Amino acid sequence: MGIVLKGLAVSRGIAIGKAVLMTSVRAHVQHYYIQPAQVADEIKRVGAARNMVVQELEKLLAEMPADAPHELAAILDVHLMLLQDQELVKGIKQWIEERLYNAEWALTRQLEIVSRQFDEMEDAYLRERKADLEQVVERILQYMQGDKSGAEHSLNALAQTQDDGETQLILVAHDLSPADMLKFKASVFVGFVTDVGGPTSHTAIVARSMDIPAVVGARSASQLLRPDDLIIIDGDAGLVLVDPSTMVVEEYRAKQRLSRIERERLVRIKHTPAITLDGERVDLLANIEMPGDAALAVAAGAVGVGLFRSEFLFMGRAGNLPDEQEQYLAYREAVEAMHGLPLTIRTIDIGSDKPLDRPDPHNRYEHAVEINPALGLRAIRWCLAEPAMFREQICALLRAAAHGSVKILIPMLCAEEEIQQTLAHIAACKEILDARGEKQGPVQIGAMIEIPAAALQAEMFLDYFDFLSIGTNDLIQYTLAIDRSDESVAHLYNPLHPAVLYLIEYTIQAARKRGKLVTVCGEMAGAAQYTQLLLRMGLRSFSMHPVQILEVKQQILQTHTKATQVLAA
Ligand code: PEP
Ligand code: MG
Repeated sequence: MGIVLKGLAVSRGIAIGKAVLMTSVRAHVQHYYIQPAQVADEIKRVGAARNMVVQELEKLLAEMPADAPHELAAILDVHLMLLQDQELVKGIKQWIEERLYNAEWALTRQLEIVSRQFDEMEDAYLRERKADLEQVVERILQYMQGDKSGAEHSLNALAQTQDDGETQLILVAHDLSPADMLKFKASVFVGFVTDVGGPTSHTAIVARSMDIPAVVGARSASQLLRPDDLIIIDGDAGLVLVDPSTMVVEEYRAKQRLSRIERERLVRIKHTPAITLDGERVDLLANIEMPGDAALAVAAGAVGVGLFRSEFLFMGRAGNLPDEQEQYLAYREAVEAMHGLPLTIRTIDIGSDKPLDRPDPHNRYEHAVEINPALGLRAIRWCLAEPAMFREQICALLRAAAHGSVKILIPMLCAEEEIQQTLAHIAACKEILDARGEKQGPVQIGAMIEIPAAALQAEMFLDYFDFLSIGTNDLIQYTLAIDRSDESVAHLYNPLHPAVLYLIEYTIQAARKRGKLVTVCGEMAGAAQYTQLLLRMGLRSFSMHPVQILEVKQQILQTHTKATQVLAA
């Protein structure tokens, strides 16, 4: 029996599979199985990219001015030598031939192996050459990304591998950005383990939305685990079991079967309206990240989308950000998929743990997002600092609203001046579209309540907005001063802290008094253990990952809201 690593339970379920170790810089690489008939082409693809890098380096060496520092030529020589390294070349070929890995995967897999050999070297100079190796591999990958032929096969390959229980793979990384995680939506991985991350970090949120077992904050997992180790992820307990005995594997397989049966049972209430025992109707809405998720939300029984995190359209784009037209098409795709049900699109909430991955090469947006910006230029603050970008998004949203029911939600508002500026931009965009003769639809405008000061000023917010949406993830972070993505303070991240409950209830009651809609769209809304509490605080609108809807509905069907009209606290 091997070791058990303890992390944070962030996405439920059990996954059993072999560990695939990955550094976050290479997480953007595609992972899929190829067909045996594609082996030769795939080997050729890496070979061609490698030759391009060799040619590039040779050209650089040949054209190097005579007065260039001697070290520069030495570095290029090292890079050339590493590119010719037989172990790298042989290994890549082997992964493609024997495991049917696509070329990028084979390359990064072999890099992990050779990197470890470098780590173990006694000589400090040689050890440091690992960085050079990583650079040349990155360069090969860049050349391969220019050649898109590999990507076409990925979906077919995925379909083939999903049923094959013996080859299930679990991704282990020090850290993954939310954008990386989103790319794994259509990948071979059945579970995720990361060393860092808190319970409501966006990486955890995306894992939950994918309904894939995940453990974050497992500290040194990426150091302790070796490639191909058999591991079990217990996403309910936050455990990673390494090298489990056959008996333990069997036990977990039985648990997997049981939870599958429970889920199947819940499907029976899919078409049952969400009404409490005392007849209170509750709206169950969905949180989504991409336009393609809208149809899935409706299929899961959501009566609308309560939170479309539009920033995901802007992430992982290497700075090539979507303009108004591209955004309009994306929002229109989502609104059309809703078939008349409301779609609440949140304006871009970039910053904090959702960085734009690289600076915009065209320098369209001058304000870069800082490294530790939870209290910095994030969300609406960033938008107000980049009014041209903000207006592009608002125009795209207003145009999409001509195709269905769209609501606009503004994140991270705090001061009244910010509200006024925001609304002025929206009014200006309406005029811009009119002047252009462009069609636009009516929109309701809402504010996220996720800063304690905003909750305490709920009445002032209600003077300006049609509806409110409580972002408990940030509200908890800012009320308790707990970084939501830092696993070392995760034990203090407490949704039941009396101060948090006070702010939530205060906001709900303020909105109800005005007869305005209030939703909770943070992770608390989808956690069935809080459903009864939120109902008793007066909440009638919950927005969550579609996979959580049935469990929350089950709670609603069993609750009498007037049984205890007091705060659980
Ligand atoms: C929240 O803060 O609760 C929320 C829903 O927004 P996000 O998780 O995207 O910050
Ligand atoms: Mg938030």
